[in-house]
Amino acid sequence: MEIINNVNLKKYTTYKLEGVVKKIYFPEDVLELKKLILKLKKDNIKYKIIGNGSNMIISSKYDGVLIKLSKFDKLNIEGNIVTVGSGYSLPKLALKCARENLSGLEFAYSIPATVGGAIYQNAGAYQSSLDKVIKSATILTDNGEVITLNKDALNLKYRESIFKHKNYICLEVTFELSKGVYEDSLKQMQENLKSRKDSQPIDYPSAGSVFRNPRGYSAGKLIEEAGLKGLRVGDAMVSYKHANFIVNVGRARAEDILKLIKIVQSEVALKTGIKLECEQEYLE
Ligand SMILES: Cc1cc2nc3c(=O)[nH]c(=O)nc-3n(C[C@H](O)[C@H](O)[C@H](O)COP(=O)(O)OP(=O)(O)OC[C@H]3O[C@@H](n4cnc5c(N)ncnc54)[C@H](O)[C@@H]3O)c2cc1C
Repeated sequence: MEIINNVNLKKYTTYKLEGVVKKIYFPEDVLELKKLILKLKKDNIKYKIIGNGSNMIISSKYDGVLIKLSKFDKLNIEGNIVTVGSGYSLPKLALKCARENLSGLEFAYSIPATVGGAIYQNAGAYQSSLDKVIKSATILTDNGEVITLNKDALNLKYRESIFKHKNYICLEVTFELSKGVYEDSLKQMQENLKSRKDSQPIDYPSAGSVFRNPRGYSAGKLIEEAGLKGLRVGDAMVSYKHANFIVNVGRARAEDILKLIKIVQSEVALKTGIKLECEQEYLE
């Protein structure tokens, strides 16, 4: 199995964070993954599955290891049923399905996730989300069992899934798409991408929206109205282009981003009484 020591976080997080963690493993298949987890548990070593690192703030204080399922990348398309490994890139999948004249994943083209990271979060955009197109997922349970759960059992809601509450690893996902027309899907994906370029700071490293939208409010608007655009801790900065983004303007560390998140939360709470809830995951 491929293993990298002294892992440069810049390469594994879309924030392109400064810092290093101990080790990252790239298991080839389920058997290797199972053996690895058994060994790590036996040796009392903490581990964390990482997708594309597009929703994670990883500190170099993290003393566990990372496991990346990039070798879980098989894709099978039969009619409108698409089965794909959890390490597969979500934008690549959206494009591939569109080319097969399958519709339903156009919204996912501009989300820089893996399939596994996306199901964990029930990623969504443009009034759609993964739960609209998922049929089932095959998972590795904490007891080492491989089972398939249907959509209802995955408990997919707004940025919610069973993966957030159980120590399950997603191995493979099956989608049920509808018949589409490649040119129409492509047009939709390009329009989505353009609207992002116009409204989001995609030229800087980030991990997308930082806070959930509180019911009835826009987190970005609350932050902007609190006058926090451009606020900095080290090289982490509240974006001028979209206040619900924190961008890395140089050599930001996880700690800078966390500190900035806390300041934004307390400033917004002070001014509006609303507690913003962070969407991104801090690992230390
Ligand atoms: C520019 C930009 C735009 C974004 N836009 C959106 C958007 O429109 N909508 C949206 O929802 N999100 C968006 N995001 C956030 C992010 O892409 C999503 O949250 C995505 O689902 C994270 O996927 P990932 O593969 O990068 O997961 P990671 O960030 O690597 O991991 C996130 C969590 O998933 C877990 N995980 C990863 N793989 C597995 C697996 N196989 N089994 C079990 N758990 C696993 C990890 O352990 C971790 O807890 C955006 C991010 C960026 C940088």
